[in-house]
Amino acid sequence: MENSISLRSVFKAKQRIQDIITETPLIYSEQLSKETGDEVYLKLENLQPTGAFKLRGAANKILSLTSEEKQKGITTFSTGNHGIAVAYVAKQLGIHATVCISNRVPKEKVNRLERLDATVEIVGENQDDAEVFCYELEKTKGLSVIKPFDDLHVIAGQGTIGLEILHQLPEVQDLVIPLSGGGLLSGIAYTLKSIAPDITIQGVTMEKSAVMHESLKRGAPVVLNESDTLADSLLGGLGPDNKYTFSLTKKYMDESVLISEKMIEKGIVFMMEYHKMIIEGAAAAGIGRVMQERNGDGRYVVIVVTGNNVDHQTIKNLM
Ligand SMILES: *Cc1c(COP(=O)(O)O)cnc(C)c1O
Repeated sequence: MENSISLRSVFKAKQRIQDIITETPLIYSEQLSKETGDEVYLKLENLQPTGAFKLRGAANKILSLTSEEKQKGITTFSTGNHGIAVAYVAKQLGIHATVCISNRVPKEKVNRLERLDATVEIVGENQDDAEVFCYELEKTKGLSVIKPFDDLHVIAGQGTIGLEILHQLPEVQDLVIPLSGGGLLSGIAYTLKSIAPDITIQGVTMEKSAVMHESLKRGAPVVLNESDTLADSLLGGLGPDNKYTFSLTKKYMDESVLISEKMIEKGIVFMMEYHKMIIEGAAAAGIGRVMQERNGDGRYVVIVVTGNNVDHQTIKNLM
């Protein structure tokens, strides 16, 4: 296999995943454009069948496995949008998926994974225990581990968003992208800058537990404690031996910014009010950032709206 990302691999991903993913709409936001003085568009990955962009990377990875690997089955340790995506793709393709989680994961999430016919293995007290168990399954049962971001097929899969954006809005100048492990940002930024190097890429993280932000500042991946945040899908570390996303993010991101909980909240409420859509905190990070910071001069800005995995109670509280 190739050991670095290439445009060819992103185009291959696009072809490979086309029957599983939705080519999502890019809509113009009249209200955000008015408020900011820029031409602001929203790339609606919340409209993927699983409710988040993670489907692209997971589908590209799983479809790239050999038939022997598919037969043996796959496993992952994410409970959020990536875990759901892996279970969904596995079900579509008739592959057996095992999702390893800790006993702290809420019952609702377990139910959702089980409805997708995944085997849920509950192990230990935290996500790290679940991850360790996942790699044991790789050794003992020959299952393939589907990583959430630090994998070239996953990165190329997320990169297909960049191809779609360029197709839908060739004038695009600035991208605003929620940032956690950096698979999403690496894929889109690599793809867009390979074709149009003048496009700028801004990564947005919540103020608390901003792992990639801190890691870039210190020059190497760091570990931080997790805090409560509305952007729970942006929590998590870069992994003990990050191979790709730290260096790709470092190379292709122009600016890393932090956003307050208050502005994330405003982003969620804005989408409900003006676009009649429910999105999760992580997905609202980019919107909150643009609402807060642009003093525009008509630039073409695209915000990636990443997902909608939010519980009723959170929305009720915000209303
Ligand atoms: C995973 C995720 C992100 C961040 O993606 P990374 O590749 O980890 O940077 C952003 N938003 C949502 C909704 C996610 O599920």
